[in-house]
Amino acid sequence: MRYLLGLIVIALLAAGGVYVYAGRLAGPAIEIAKPVKYVGQTGTIEVAITAPGAKLSAFQVTFEQNGKQTPLASLAKPGKAEIKQEGADRVRITQAIGRDVLTDLKSGPAKIVVTAERPVLYGLRKTQATASHDVTVRLEKPTVAVISTKHYINLGGSEMVVYRATPADVESGVQVGDLTYPGFPASGAKVEGVHITDPAIKIAFIALRWDQDVNTPMHAYAKDEAGNTARADFDHLSFPKPFKKSRIPLDDKFLDRVVPQILETTQEVNPQGSNLEKFLVLNGELRQKNAQTIANYSKQTAPEILWGGAVFHPFTNTAVEAAFADQRTYIYDGKEVDRQTHLGFDLARVVNSPVLAANRGKVMHAGPLGIYGNCVILDHGMGVQSLYGHLSSIAVKVGDMVEKEQEMGRSGMTGLAGGDHLHFTMLVNGVMVNPVEWWDAHWIQDRIVRKLREASSS
Ligand SMILES: [Zn+2]
Repeated sequence: MRYLLGLIVIALLAAGGVYVYAGRLAGPAIEIAKPVKYVGQTGTIEVAITAPGAKLSAFQVTFEQNGKQTPLASLAKPGKAEIKQEGADRVRITQAIGRDVLTDLKSGPAKIVVTAERPVLYGLRKTQATASHDVTVRLEKPTVAVISTKHYINLGGSEMVVYRATPADVESGVQVGDLTYPGFPASGAKVEGVHITDPAIKIAFIALRWDQDVNTPMHAYAKDEAGNTARADFDHLSFPKPFKKSRIPLDDKFLDRVVPQILETTQEVNPQGSNLEKFLVLNGELRQKNAQTIANYSKQTAPEILWGGAVFHPFTNTAVEAAFADQRTYIYDGKEVDRQTHLGFDLARVVNSPVLAANRGKVMHAGPLGIYGNCVILDHGMGVQSLYGHLSSIAVKVGDMVEKEQEMGRSGMTGLAGGDHLHFTMLVNGVMVNPVEWWDAHWIQDRIVRKLREASSS
């Protein structure tokens, strides 16, 4: 009897031990993915819960602020939350939050708390886990207002907008259709007669891309980290610009010279077949890839106007062989084989002419660049850059500061070039734009310097 009692006690102790042990097993793994840091006028909570080997028995998402706890989604009452099963043992809970859900929401610190429970020991016990995540609620909307006046923008051309955005550190810029142009602090406008110290005043260089609709809508915007946004329209007139059509005859002599030479320095495409077939890949696919490489240099732009407001070197004394956005049709053996848009100017002088920096800037690229052959890209700051293609030699290196009209190398016919010439283009935030405006002293004065001086005295 005593023996039996002993056995029962041992069995109970063992069962108790298992029971206690099961209770100490890890609870579900909770990951609060959103919001990362801020909650705005509107926001999203996103939580992923993993409960290995078993389904969840319960979860609760709670929002805590100023001592008040507001229960949001739970397994029993999902409310407006979306609960998605991801595989056998993981759920993702997504819930929109904001003033409509959290009526007492105030700017300041807050916390998101998530508890979750999974069954263990054949469902006899449950084991729990809790996770919390500190956030900052920011309900104040940013503001944006345009200061500059009289914006005239040609299709394929550039403009500049001066605006005020608060708070001063808010992300802001100008939206032109689906393209975004970032704003830079106006304190970086190192131009004579311009001295802007208000940190809220920003400058955005913008473009109406050659293939956008002439009536593309544009506005200034500000967007804070909590997702609160503001926008401001500005007075502007856009003008269409007729682009020329041209025919480019191709022959085997040209293809035999340019195709192998470009392929030697490029890893981005590996075309097969005849030189004509290879040429079509270079002229199409490689042209696009090069445009992307070139556009990426805008991310490294200086937040300053490095060129002091001086007109860009206009390359007079050169013959213009092709202009910006010429619509080119390529002819081989009497048949049309390709169509492309020529986004630059082709300027010819004599063989091996000095290639001069159009304005003061920093060398971003100095070396082969696909169809552009030996190529130099200069950064003039605030997203404004210039490109020089088909050089026979380059005399500058990446990182060099060059002065206006400093020699950077010699012209040539590397890349897709029929003869010795300089291919020149301007870029605004990676978008190729018509350089003619930048060569015009009146345009520089009216569109850029005037607006900076007006903002400076306001
Ligand atoms: Zn060209």
